[in-house]
Formats: sequence, C-alpha cells, structure tokens
Amino acid sequence: MTSLDDLPIRDDLRGRTPYGAPQKSVPVALNVNENTHPIPEDVAHDIVARVAAAILSLNRYPDREFTELREALAEYLGHGLDSDRIWAANGSNEVLQHLLQAFGGPGRTALGFAPTYSMYGLLASGTGTEWVTSGRDADYELGADTAVAAIREHDPDLVLLCAPNNPTGTPVSLDTITAVADAARGIVVVDEAYVEFADPGTPSALTLLEGRPRLVVSRTMSKAFAFAGARVGYLAADPAVIDALRLVRLPYHLSALTQAAALGALAHADEMLAMVDEIRSQRDRISTELAGIGFRPYRSGANFVLFGGVDDPHAVFEALLARGILIREIGLPGSLRVTAGTEAETTAFLEAIAVFAPANA
Ligand code: PMP
Repeated sequence: MTSLDDLPIRDDLRGRTPYGAPQKSVPVALNVNENTHPIPEDVAHDIVARVAAAILSLNRYPDREFTELREALAEYLGHGLDSDRIWAANGSNEVLQHLLQAFGGPGRTALGFAPTYSMYGLLASGTGTEWVTSGRDADYELGADTAVAAIREHDPDLVLLCAPNNPTGTPVSLDTITAVADAARGIVVVDEAYVEFADPGTPSALTLLEGRPRLVVSRTMSKAFAFAGARVGYLAADPAVIDALRLVRLPYHLSALTQAAALGALAHADEMLAMVDEIRSQRDRISTELAGIGFRPYRSGANFVLFGGVDDPHAVFEALLARGILIREIGLPGSLRVTAGTEAETTAFLEAIAVFAPANA
C-alpha cells in the first residue's frame, strides 16, 4: 500500500498532521466552538429564497468582486468602513490563507503567541512561511511588553494576534494590539473570530484601523453568526491590502450560492446574533460552576472556556464522550476546552464533569 512517505510530497510537508478536530455525531457537540443554536426558521426561508434565485444564474460565474456582499459586510461592521476596505472568502481560514499567500511565503516569517489557534501554523506551512511562536504571560494573558519583546526578537513579516485567543479564551487589550502595531514592521492580523462574545462595551481592533495601513482585522460568520456551515469569513483593512489579496485569490472563489446565503444571513443580522447574550451567560456559568468545584477556568472573552485542574484530560474526554458529550483535548497539560452551548447542553456538560471535580478527589 502506498503511504504518504512514498509520494514526492514537498519536503516541508513531510511528517505533518492535518487539522484534526474529531468529527463525531453526538447529542452534545461542544468541541469546535460553533454556535449550537440553530438558525431561526424565518431566516432560513429567506436564505432559501435567495439561494433559489441565484441557482437560476449558475450557468454564469459569480460576481468575482462580491460587491454586494462587501457592501453588506461593511454596513454590518460599521466604524465608518466602506466596501473597498472589505475582503471575504470561504471561512476566515481562507481569509488568513490569502494574507499568508500575499505577505508570507518562502524566506518570510509569521509570529504567533502560543498556545494559539492551531491553523496558523498549518496555514504558514502550506504557504511556505516560517511559523515562529513566542510565549504568553501568566494565565495565558498577553501584555504589551511581552508581545513587543517577541516582535523585537523575531522581526516577523506577519504577526497573528488571536483576540480573544483560541484555545485559551483570553481577551487581548487594545493597548497590546496598539503596541504590536507600532512595533511591527510587517502586517499585523488581529483575528477577531470570537469578538462578538466579548463583554459588552469591549472595543474592537476595528477602532484602530484608521491611519494604520498594515493592520488587518479578520472576522467570521462561523461563530456568533451561527453560519459555520456556509463558510464565510471576512476582514477589514486598508484598500491597498485588499488589492494585495486580489493577487492571490482564485478567480470566483466565493460561489454565487455562498454570496446569496451570506447576504440573506446579513439581512437578518439581529436575529442571527440574538443568541449571543445567552451564550455569553452560559460561558460565564461554566466558568463560575467549574471554579466552584475546584477546576481552574481561564478568563474568557469567547464562547468557550479553557479549564485546568484536570488530572487525566484524556480519561475525562473519553468518559464524557461515552455520555454523548464531545469537548476538546487541546494538548495542554491538565486542561480541557468546552464550548458554551444551549442551557440544556451546558447543564449536561456540567453534570457530567462534576464527577471528575478536584473538589471530589
Ligand atoms: N480563527 C479562529 C481563532 C478560530 O478559532 C477559527 C475556527 N475554529 C477560525 C479562525 C476559522 O473559522 P472559519 O474558517 O470557520 O471562519
């Protein structure tokens, strides 16, 4: 049988493992930070009508510039942004890939602050970019001094700042982001995939874009917007950055169906985002209840919680899975990550994990 090693694969891909969150059909799936609330039925009907209309024109290529979608995303983001500052792709993973294709590549480096989103390293390797990581402060926080010292040390072509950070949940202050943008010579990407779950009143890095042409703020419709299956991510940046991304995207990369569906969802943004407050309160409930039984939850501004104090993470992961509850082993010693679900899903998780509480040991 042929194995990967037998193939003339690129040397820098040899021995690598693909992105691999387990895909299992379970009653309570809290492992990939989705919004677990289904799409409201009236919104679904509107999206179906728009997709149906788009199907009649599938003989033609879609709008390569996804003009209407960029306008709708600009309007959704606010902050005085217009559509020439907006880019979109099939999930923010593809948006990030476009950034690495345009600004990374052989001989260039991208810097992140570990532990952070595992796809950054994979996207870097796929684009031939060297991926370097630096550490964080206590409790996975990232202060300006620590971040700036890493930039001085590595002088990266790109910085990937995940704010709030996956898998730790830790928010990143605008002070840190500003200091990074000031210190870095290259492109600074602030990945705000989870920003809608931040505590109300928390400012977005979008407020820093004006006058910073190398700053990029990436977002997704996969999380708060409950649209992970549609694959729509986007970013805001200087129009010159958008021009750079046009050089690397595939022609017509956003299908007419994706554009129609995303426009439908954005037309109902309030309804699509209606569950965010409820999810945030389940997240806070997870943190409070886990701390109450002796686990050590880290500060989260996202829709998930990383918690330490787990004796044997793999055994706990398996025991919960046996009860139909899927959470995430992220390879951090003594720690597991769980997504905040509906109230019922969160209750199921909390009841199942209580058996393993340090307080019970
Ligand atoms: N950034 C972060 C920090 C993420 O956690 C994820 C999804 N897990 C993504 C980007 C990519 O999401 P998507 O491609 O669905 O937009």
